[in-house]
Amino acid sequence: SWGNFSDKSNLDWSSEEEEPDGRARPVQVLVVKDDHSFELDEAALSRILLSEEVRDREVVAISVAGAFRKGKSFLMDFMLRYMYNQASEGWLGEPDEPLTGFSWRGGSERETTGIQIWSEVFLVDKPDGRKVAVLLMDTQGTFDSQSTLRDSATVFALSTMISSMQVYNISQNVQEDDLQHLQLFTEYGRLAMEETFLKPFQSMIFLVRDWSFPYEFSYGQEGGMKFLEKRLKISENQHEELQNVRKHIHSCFTNISCFLMPHPGLKVATNPHFDGRLKEIDREFINNLQVLVPWLLSPRNLDVKEINGNNITCRGLVEYFKAYIKIYQG
Ligand code: GDP
Ligand code: MG
Repeated sequence: SWGNFSDKSNLDWSSEEEEPDGRARPVQVLVVKDDHSFELDEAALSRILLSEEVRDREVVAISVAGAFRKGKSFLMDFMLRYMYNQASEGWLGEPDEPLTGFSWRGGSERETTGIQIWSEVFLVDKPDGRKVAVLLMDTQGTFDSQSTLRDSATVFALSTMISSMQVYNISQNVQEDDLQHLQLFTEYGRLAMEETFLKPFQSMIFLVRDWSFPYEFSYGQEGGMKFLEKRLKISENQHEELQNVRKHIHSCFTNISCFLMPHPGLKVATNPHFDGRLKEIDREFINNLQVLVPWLLSPRNLDVKEINGNNITCRGLVEYFKAYIKIYQG
């Protein structure tokens, strides 16, 4: 039992970590408010990460970040299916099963800028015998005006600081402004951290959605790496600014990779009644999902969160989260 929540009546339903039926669900732990201040729901964060089964386990924190309406939550829900059905070949689910989990939807209406985490932390046995706790985080940014860019920078920076793997979800291509945003966001994060000789962050994955040049660079991770190498290449005759963005990104992450995803088909992109069932998603997308998700989440690929070279437990992550947010609030 988690005790009573009567003192939290000013918070909406999302701050309690389970629905009445006990099912897991997304919980908004960080909210960016209209006046651009932000708020961490420490109670919710603690209920999830300080529960007895997980608090002393080393944590693997996986975040998906990027602008609205680019299919982040949709992808997260497939990641959840994988986490719940790891052992099964059929983890993707039945052809007619609606997709549930983090809320995802069409339309252009905005959602809250901030960070949601899945209320269930998964315990996974790695091949080396360690049992780790896996936390999934869904984040929202806006990127559409100067003021919201600052909010997005905070959300992106915080989620990068507390995750061991940041999936940067972008649409169609890696544009120069995607790289500039990444530079801004990571600089914002680095400023708030203790200086060390180590790179401040762990894995960065550029996930390009609706990739439409498979004949140039093939879908998946190999094509992605070749494509990214080209995009992140530093050369003498580049403008200094372009060189600096690239140097900065290289200096921030221990691992940088890229995955090129095909378009999921028109039903997914445009049909307002689409409920996520597999049979309405393009085969090519599903095939690549079957590669992408295990590549991100299979036990041997899960990296424990490190800060200054130390492995972090769920309990430690709560402390860092609180400390980092104070810096931005200060
Ligand atoms: P989020 O705001 O980034 O979390 O985006 P959502 O996951 O809520 O998805 C927004 C819309 O994009 C929904 O209508 C999805 O059906 C659709 N969608 C999901 N994945 C993709 C994709 O890879 N490409 C395109 N074009 N649309 C997608
Ligand atoms: Mg979303």
